Amino acid sequence: MITLALSKGRIFEETLPLLAAAGIEVLEDPEKSRKLILPTNQPEVRVVLVRASDVPTYVQYGGADLGVTGKDTLIEHGGQGLYQPLDLRIAKCRVSVAVRADFDYQQAVRQGARLKVATKYTGIARDFFATKGVHVDMIKLYGSMELAPLTGLADAIVDLVSTGNTLKANHLVEVERIMDISSHLVVNQAALKLKQAPLRRIIDAFAGAIRQD
Ligand code: AMP
Repeated sequence: MITLALSKGRIFEETLPLLAAAGIEVLEDPEKSRKLILPTNQPEVRVVLVRASDVPTYVQYGGADLGVTGKDTLIEHGGQGLYQPLDLRIAKCRVSVAVRADFDYQQAVRQGARLKVATKYTGIARDFFATKGVHVDMIKLYGSMELAPLTGLADAIVDLVSTGNTLKANHLVEVERIMDISSHLVVNQAALKLKQAPLRRIIDAFAGAIRQD
């Protein structure tokens, strides 16, 4: 059995064409089903639905043989025990710093102010501000980061931005682009040895189906 870990939403949707290239069709729609294990047209391949931030952990410990996960999640996880053969170039976005439109970020940085930064991405944020020489108090959040500057919880947030519409709707502005993000294929290193032929087939099919635009 080959088990592929995916998260619902954009990653699931954008992985479907890659699976199709490997001849794999998921037989149930995760938006309609409550099942966490989805069968495919190939009896030896199944999909497990996990939280996006749990995909690297499932693959690391062998709960899944392979998975698709954002580079952001992979960096925060650390990548231990994971073979990372492919940038799938899907679910593209960026990690950015955003502040309230009326907060003068550049001046705060120039003056060496200590910034309160709210984020789910504490590792990425800490590295970024350390390199910049900015002192920060990090506030770990698990969601709705946009709310933090609006309520006075933080001066700035570090979050994923795609179209920028969410920031705009909450009167926030992007002041730094930290890194571009896309989703990557990760494979359990032991599984790659034990199930080499079927995993290689999937990896090669995915590689051939990556969009270059
Ligand atoms: P947008 O309004 O298009 O800039 O999207 C921003 C919102 O969508 C934020 O709440 C992000 O956390 C989330 N988001 C954007 N891109 C992604 C992605 N590739 N994966 C997961 N969440 C994302």
